Amino acid sequence: MSLPRNLRHIQALAKQQANTVTLGQLLRTTRSDPTSLIRQGQWLRSQLPIRFARRLDEFLQLPYVVVHNSNIKQVFDIYIDTFESVSDFPTIITERDEADFVSLIRAQLEKHQQVARLVAEGYREVRHNYPHFRLDSFLDRLFITRISARILMENYIRMRTPQEGHIGVVQKELSPLRVLQDLSTEITRLTEAIYGVAPEIEFRGNLTCTLDYIPRHVQFMCQELLKNAVRATTERHKPRNLAGFGFTSEPASIPRVAVELQKGDVHVIIKISDQGGGMPKKIQEEAWQYGWTTADNEELAGYGFGLPLTRLHAQYFGGDVFMQALPGHGTDMYLLLNHLKEGSPSIEEDDPSTA
Ligand code: ADP
Ligand code: MG
Repeated sequence: MSLPRNLRHIQALAKQQANTVTLGQLLRTTRSDPTSLIRQGQWLRSQLPIRFARRLDEFLQLPYVVVHNSNIKQVFDIYIDTFESVSDFPTIITERDEADFVSLIRAQLEKHQQVARLVAEGYREVRHNYPHFRLDSFLDRLFITRISARILMENYIRMRTPQEGHIGVVQKELSPLRVLQDLSTEITRLTEAIYGVAPEIEFRGNLTCTLDYIPRHVQFMCQELLKNAVRATTERHKPRNLAGFGFTSEPASIPRVAVELQKGDVHVIIKISDQGGGMPKKIQEEAWQYGWTTADNEELAGYGFGLPLTRLHAQYFGGDVFMQALPGHGTDMYLLLNHLKEGSPSIEEDDPSTA
């Protein structure tokens, strides 16, 4: 990997304290008038490079075998590109400057789409050769920065076109039921295509509850948990092919996956229960590590990034996810999400002294 031309600049910026923003501050500054747009553009132009510099600085300290992986190298190049194009952008003064800047941010955001897949693929390849090699805390920081940077960039792009029921990236009174139902349809179709069967997914509890949240995040977390539950259930209860006899056993009855919604004082709680066999104690801990998977088909599962990334997203805004996996029976996953509102804490960015 060739060293970036502005290595010194990266290292200096990486040591700077980022100006972290709470969600409340972000929502308050989400206005569509030109002055607000220019101010937000200026703020991003100065702040994004600090965040990307920190991660680049860490990339440069990774072992040779990691950074020479072609997928990881592509991620590094995307980070360098964002870092350089944002830091090299001239001072934003006029509306015209701001319009150019938002085009740049749009283009950069697009490049970052593939980052999660590239990281997951690269990490798998590295660990294939070095099975004991782990990068969990590096990956946590990389993905926290990714979550923050995408929120900041997306919010900035959206603030110029206010949408009914939304403030920037946050949707007011989002229906988790709707999100889960849409996902269920999709996951059921996929499961039937792979296995020929799929468990029914049923919904219970407080079906009308709503939540102020970033829709993409709710979708991501629910999708990962639902896919895991459906896959485990189907793998355990699918009809067995009776080898040598050329026929399949009676269509098995597959136990349902139950999704329960509840509204607590602070959180909306989404509980997903399956009878997919649960996990032995030891595996219950390992399953939260990046890259830990029992999957060999890639459509419902694959990289072992689902659980750790779901936890990172949930904790990002002060929520959480818990697992109760009864070995030999099934798993209950609890996803706790709090309303995003004024004063919501976030782990927007880590402090450089702890990075
Ligand atoms: P992936 O789905 O790509 O394997 P995840 O992080 O989502 O990665 O899950 C890691 C592993 O944890 C899975 O491969 C599976 O072995 C186990 N697991 C996760 N959820 C469940 C569940 N509901 N029931 C049984 N095993 C599960
Ligand atoms: Mg998964």
